[in-house]
Parts: sequence; C-alpha cells; structure tokens
Amino acid sequence: MEFETVIGLEVHAQMLTETKIFCSCSTKFGAAPNSHTCPICLGMPGVLPVLNKKVVEYAMKMALATNCAINPTCEFARKNYFYPDLPKGYQISQYAYPLAEHGWLELEVNGGKKRIGITRIHMEEDAGKLLHDEHNPVSYVDLNRTGVPLIEIVSEPDIRGAEEAADYLKRLHEILVYLEICDGNMEEGSFRCDANVSIRPKGQKEFGTRAELKNMNSFRNVQRGLEYEIKRQQYIVENGGTIVQETRLWDDAQGVTNSMRGKEEAHDYRYFPDPDLVPVIVDEAWIGKIRADMPELPQAKRERFISEYQISAYDAGVLTSEKALAGYFEEVVAICAKPKQAGNWLMGDVMKFLNEDKKTIRECPITAASLAEMINLIDAGTISGKMAKDIVEEMYQSGKNPREVIAEKGMVQITDEAALAKTISSIIDANPQQLADYRAGKEKLFGFFVGQVMKATQGKANPQIVNDLLKKMLAK
Ligand code: ADP
Ligand code: MG
Ligand code: ZN
Repeated sequence: MEFETVIGLEVHAQMLTETKIFCSCSTKFGAAPNSHTCPICLGMPGVLPVLNKKVVEYAMKMALATNCAINPTCEFARKNYFYPDLPKGYQISQYAYPLAEHGWLELEVNGGKKRIGITRIHMEEDAGKLLHDEHNPVSYVDLNRTGVPLIEIVSEPDIRGAEEAADYLKRLHEILVYLEICDGNMEEGSFRCDANVSIRPKGQKEFGTRAELKNMNSFRNVQRGLEYEIKRQQYIVENGGTIVQETRLWDDAQGVTNSMRGKEEAHDYRYFPDPDLVPVIVDEAWIGKIRADMPELPQAKRERFISEYQISAYDAGVLTSEKALAGYFEEVVAICAKPKQAGNWLMGDVMKFLNEDKKTIRECPITAASLAEMINLIDAGTISGKMAKDIVEEMYQSGKNPREVIAEKGMVQITDEAALAKTISSIIDANPQQLADYRAGKEKLFGFFVGQVMKATQGKANPQIVNDLLKKMLAK
C-alpha cells in the first residue's frame, strides 16, 4: 500500500524582549535559578499582569511576514493544568481570539513553489523549568523562564514529508531572525517545534490519526524524528494495527520516539478568557506603523539578489541565509562591483575560516572594504588568484588590509613583460636539450618551462603573460 504523510507543525518562538510578557523581570538566559522572578511571574495571589506592548508588536511583525490577517481584537485566555513548573496553575495564552490567522509561507518544492497554510499566530507565556538531580531522587524548579514571552505559530496540515517539514522550519526560523524578534537559538529553547504527523493511504481524503512529537531540538532531529515516526506508523498499519492519538518523545540517543502520554483535548484545559487582562485592540494605524518598520525578508532578498547581481539561486540562497551576511556581501559589491567574485570569496575562503573558528560574519576580521579591495587587485592583475588565497588568509589572521599584507610579504605579481622575457631567456639558455626536444614536437615540455619560470619568480609571475611569452620565445 502506498501512503501519504501529513504533517502540521506548532512552533514556539521566544520573543527577544528585555522583559517578560506580564511583568518587568528580565528574560536573560542563564541567570542563577529563580533570580529573575517577582510576585507576578511567581503566581502570588492578588497580583495583576500588565501586557508588554513590545510582545504584541513583535508578534504583529511575524504575522505580517507570514501573510496573516491581524485580528482587530484579540484576547488572552487561561489554559488550566497542573505542573510544578507552572505556579499559577494556568498558562496565559490565547485561544478563541488569537492575534492573527489565515497566513501562509512559501516553500520551494521540486523547483516549484508551494504554500503552507498558517492557521494562527498567538501570544503566550512560557512555563518554568524542572531540573532533575542525577544522583538524588529530587527535582528543583527554576522559574526564571516563567512568563517569558512566546508566540506560537500553528501550521495547517499541509506539509507532506519530513524534509519539507525541516524546510518549512528553516524558513520560519530565518524570518524570525531577520525580523530580530527571536534569537533562534534551538539549544536554549528559543525556537521549539512540536510536530503532528499522520499517514493515510494515497488518494484517501480523511486524515489519519496523528501522533504529536516533542523534544526535537534541531532541524536535523525534527527530520529524523518524523522519518522514524512515519516508518513506525506505516509498520503498524501494514500489520493490521491502529494508530493511537498520543504525545511521543523523540529520543535522540536511541533515534526512536516513545509514547509519553495520551493526547489531551482542548476541552481538558478548561480554557476561559483571562479576567485580569483586557482585550488587545489593534487598529489599522498601528499595523501600518509596524508594516513600515519591516525589513526586507529573506525570500524577497533572494529574488532581488538573483536579478540584481545575476548570481545563481544557490548562491543567493547561501548569501541571504543570514541578514548580516547579505549586508556584508552588498557592501563588498558596492565597492568592487563584482558580485560573482565577491560571492565566491565569501562563500569559499571567508566562510570556511569563520566556520572553523565558530564565528559569525559580524565577527569577521576582514572588513567588506578590504575584501572588495582584494578583488579589485586580482582584477587589475596586481595579484594572482592563487596569491589572493594566501593574502585573504593573512588578512583574516591579522585583520590587515590587502595592501599591507602585499607590502609585507612582497606578494605583488610580476607583470613586467621585459623582466619576464629576461627570466625566460635565461631559462631557455640553461635548458638547450629541452628546447630542442620541444621544437622537435615534444609539446608536453611546455609545462616544464612554465614550471621553471614560476620557480624562478617564486610563483609571482603573471601566468597569462608567462604563457604568451613562452609560446613566442620557444617557437623562435
Ligand atoms: P492541538 O495540538 O493543540 O490539539 P490542533 O488540533 O490545532 O492543536 O492541531 C495542532 C497541529 O496539528 C496543527 O499544526 C495541525 O495542522 C496539525 N494536525 C491536525 N490534524 C492532523 C493530522 N491528522 N495529521 C497531521 N497533523 C495534523
Ligand atoms: Mg499541540
Ligand atoms: Zn516577574
């Protein structure tokens, strides 16, 4: 039997605000446990939450970036459940009236475009964190994360495979980071994904029963988790079993998913409007202000790079994968006007050095102006491409500009024809046998002469000029 996979993703993204969503505690990661807490986020009786306006604005940015309609009025609701990391006994979230709905995100699928529907984007608070003692049967609770602002982005069940799911996530992640509303750090939990997955026989209209996967903290793990889960479900169905609706945990070490609990239903949470918070009213003027403040988004930038700089879709994809990298590339091109070369040097040597040092482009010791200058020096024939490889490495190590490196290392290419002709003459004189053999038809010896010239000039001779001169002088 042939199966089709159906996936819908729920993404939680932590908003990059200084303070929490309903109190003025810091959102900084990594502080001493419970040091970023106050009576509000600790859930003391009698306190009242006050909404952080920045959270609404950040969420609005994401809504606009994913083509959602922002509702004129939205409301916070209490999602009731008990857990030790949730001191109030409920999470403030949005339920019946979310901030935004009916959006979509475009993916490139097999050379074409595919839209993945976005059901809704809502705001909510994060819960705390439990720390389990490895040696003693005790657990600790850290409430620093309690009340940290999140948005939840829920997709329609439009995704049709594990790879497509990873791709969708990468696009979402890229947009959040471009908008500078989320740091995107998956390991610290700033970007988390629950994946709902089911299978159905090809051609069947109704969806199958889904499992919800949790605990995947990288794009790769989301893909691996889904791949495993799809196989597991197929195996069950092919062997006459039925899938149960449940929440399953991805076990990275074992590479399997394990049942965690039966799936709870929305009505189990007894959602109701939070009486401590007023509805949020978003008018057109506010939306207009946020829209005016939106940066160019990754996909638009990619398309512009392809048409404006005449670079390949692949190169445009790499160069726009990070806003700062795209900015650096444009700075280089603004000076040297050689996009293809700029892209190659950036994606080749420069990114290799940065990756080795686990540095980002923001920390790159080579300024855009220096890289542009180096490209201009190659173009002018002052240095060869081969020399440039050494020069760029030295520029990276020392932070010096190419002229300084060239001056220090005496790396200027020899383009003086008269000087090169003199060198060639003496090489010819010193190798009469090779000359005779070459003239007798042993053309392979041409390479021998090139090698001798390069040796004599320590590799600094301009290869094109050497080539032309040798052709002339050996033929004489
Ligand atoms: P909850 O998980 O809170 O019950 P929803 O019912 O809204 O929430 O569904 C959550 C996610 O599950 C959505 O992304 C949706 O697209 C996806 N989904 C719903 N039904 C299926 C299904 N049969 N197979 C795969 N994904 C599904
Ligand atoms: Mg869910
Ligand atoms: Zn607080």
